Amino acid sequence: MMKYAEVAVDAPTGYDRTFTYSIPSGLTLKPGHLVHAPFGPRVLPGIVFRLSNESPVQETREITGASRDQPVLSPDHLSLARWISDYYMAPLYECAALMMQPGILERIRSYYSLAAEATSGQKLSPAQSRVMDYLASRDRVERGALLRAMGPRIESTLRTLERRGLVEVSSEWQKPTVRPRYVTHLEPAPSADGAEESLSPLQAALLDYVREQGGPVPRAEATREFGQYAVSALEKKGLVRRVQVHVERDPLRGRVFTPDEPPNLTPEQQRAVSVIEAAIDSPSSEAFLLHGVTGSGKTEVYLRALAHAMSSGKRGIVIVPELSLTPQTIERFSSRFPGQVAVQHSGLSPGERFDQWWRIKEGAYGVAIGARSAVFAPQPDLGLIVIDEEHEPSYKQDDAPRYHAREAALKLAELTGAVVILGTATPDVVTYTRAVNGRYRLLTLPDRIAAATAQRSNGMAAQPSVQVVDLRRELEEGNRSIFSRALSGAMGRAIEAGEQVMLYLNRRGSGGMVQCRDCGHVMRCSRCDFTLTHHAQADRLICHQCNYRRNPPGQCPKCRSRQIRYLGLGTQRVVEELEKEYPGVTTLRWDRDAASAKGAHERIMESFRQGEAQALVGTQMIAKGLHFPNVTLVGVLCADIGLFIPDFHAGERVFQLLCQVSGRTGRGPLGGQVILQTYSPGHYAVTSASAQDYTSFYDDEMAYRREQMLPPTSRLIRLVYADISQDVCQREADRLGDELKRQRLAWGLTDTDILGPAPAFPPRLRGRYRWHIILRGRDPRSLLEKAQIPQGWAVDVDPISVA
Ligand code: ADP
Ligand code: ZN
Ligand code: ZN
Repeated sequence: MMKYAEVAVDAPTGYDRTFTYSIPSGLTLKPGHLVHAPFGPRVLPGIVFRLSNESPVQETREITGASRDQPVLSPDHLSLARWISDYYMAPLYECAALMMQPGILERIRSYYSLAAEATSGQKLSPAQSRVMDYLASRDRVERGALLRAMGPRIESTLRTLERRGLVEVSSEWQKPTVRPRYVTHLEPAPSADGAEESLSPLQAALLDYVREQGGPVPRAEATREFGQYAVSALEKKGLVRRVQVHVERDPLRGRVFTPDEPPNLTPEQQRAVSVIEAAIDSPSSEAFLLHGVTGSGKTEVYLRALAHAMSSGKRGIVIVPELSLTPQTIERFSSRFPGQVAVQHSGLSPGERFDQWWRIKEGAYGVAIGARSAVFAPQPDLGLIVIDEEHEPSYKQDDAPRYHAREAALKLAELTGAVVILGTATPDVVTYTRAVNGRYRLLTLPDRIAAATAQRSNGMAAQPSVQVVDLRRELEEGNRSIFSRALSGAMGRAIEAGEQVMLYLNRRGSGGMVQCRDCGHVMRCSRCDFTLTHHAQADRLICHQCNYRRNPPGQCPKCRSRQIRYLGLGTQRVVEELEKEYPGVTTLRWDRDAASAKGAHERIMESFRQGEAQALVGTQMIAKGLHFPNVTLVGVLCADIGLFIPDFHAGERVFQLLCQVSGRTGRGPLGGQVILQTYSPGHYAVTSASAQDYTSFYDDEMAYRREQMLPPTSRLIRLVYADISQDVCQREADRLGDELKRQRLAWGLTDTDILGPAPAFPPRLRGRYRWHIILRGRDPRSLLEKAQIPQGWAVDVDPISVA
């Protein structure tokens, strides 16, 4: 029997930190147990990480209880939580909480009562007497109620009384809000004599209905069909009775999937599948980068690999970006593995999440599919993790703990010996570099399936044709419309022919980049080359990396033109222009505003698929994994907008989006055309995307990263401070900046650069100003360990955005 437990407590305690508690006799604990741990004046939830017979500290407090009989986390998940906590510098309990089942994280209620051995005659302060008197007349008092009754100042008094053994604390879990669901049903009851004779026709019909079902009928359904009166009449007559039925909240319940016939693999797919299968059979972990354009058959490779894992008694997890977690995606996996697929995502009700989590843990499913957090699904006997669209920035959580699902998956695979497949058409340059360096094995699917099988079936267009239109030229030649002549002509033809058009607008970051309309020049910081942002209020240009400021130029510093403009265009405006140019055209808008309601994505998508509109206008959302066979034209209105947002990932994001957008067309028999409008036709992200040439993009992007000392040639840590007061925020940022600079000198850590402090971009978010400091170097963490980061600062390791 171990005497001590190392517990991570639900309190802001710094990263990778546990506390030692003594285990009361009679309580048997294992690592992974969820316990109640007294911490300061309160009792908090904690997770046991380790047991021991020695305590590193003299005085330990006692655990006040365990919440379940069983540990809630497996040893692998405990190790994963530790790794996330350490690597991302996030509190350990929060990292462990990522992996706990939904609904378990209920609050603990603590109760105070007089200690049995509390005797009178103790010397007490007036405040202490007041508390003692209050408690003496009651059995036990809940902490919140006590504070409300006696004022919040009472906290330190309580703590003293507890230390002196005069007051006792106990704790209980608050009732969980999510529980198994029971639904009232009706079932036929053995009928009393004559009861059936006096029934109205409606009541008789209801009775027949209930009897014919061969099982309990939901009472709500009976009421809906036959009316409240008929239902209660039958109940009163004793002809039916109520029963509670446990209802599994399965998001796929009631859906029937027609099993699909796996196609014969292409030679490239076959090669990929063979090596992955071999890796699944081997006990050690291995990671693959599966690089292939949209439609090249990556998903088919995932399905085969999953089938192989399942045939040898292992299970899989599939992570997809939230937005591509569509009914089609679920359908595709469910058709291959009927009844074997669990779904985990934020669109589920808490009850559905709860039920699915438990069934996954029991091993009921071969495949768990979900968005980012599904990487923590409690899948037993894990053999395979698939990360689809591995380059997706949404895999990084932007709240603490700021983990990246891909990195967590790789770590988990290492711990469990599982295989990881990272699939994408446009690998993250960091991922690709690791593949080049041999850390991942690179598997390539060079062609679209349509192209690979075109010789046989014919009629499917291979790659869409991509045309780059120079917007500077349009202006020069007198066209001031947001549509170039090429796009305008192509739209006219497509609409005429009854085909569909998608117009794509990268609205992200339209907040104030300043560009010359004549030569395309974008204003940049003269100190660090970051894109400058225009702030309308102050009418100043600001560098969000180094805080350089200047007035907006009256003319272009490069070509002296006075046609300077602030980039920014909304979907609303595009729709208006469309309707002006093509009277009677039917349009749909798809952006964050239009699609914020639950299920709105699916509705918009479905109505577009049904041909209810000729044109779909949207932001980057429309670029994601959708398939519209009738779309023959995709227009990108201004490829530049994303290109110059002040963020080092800008080039990568634009390349990825342009490739994805191009992948939207030409998947049907009609083929397709893509028109990219841009002020920067020579930018490598635009040219390589239009040629669908990843390697040329990679080479140029890496040259830029090397020159700017950006990942993967360095590591970044971003520190962000937010406050409702601009002054407070800036002062604190300056203070920490100075402190870091002092430590950098003192410890000789000169290969870590300190960028900033500078206002973050956007400088104000949800009412709070934000300043940030960026550490850049081979090992920026060593500096952070020297200078203690004060409370209130968010630490973001490997930030996906530095703006
Ligand atoms: P990706 O995941 O790379 O976008 P998919 O696996 O979805 O590619 O394949 C694109 C399309 O080609 C899908 O409709 C899929 O069913 C089909 N497909 C995949 N592999 C084959 C194959 N070997 N033979 C015929 N059709 C295939
Ligand atoms: Zn110019
Ligand atoms: Zn700068």
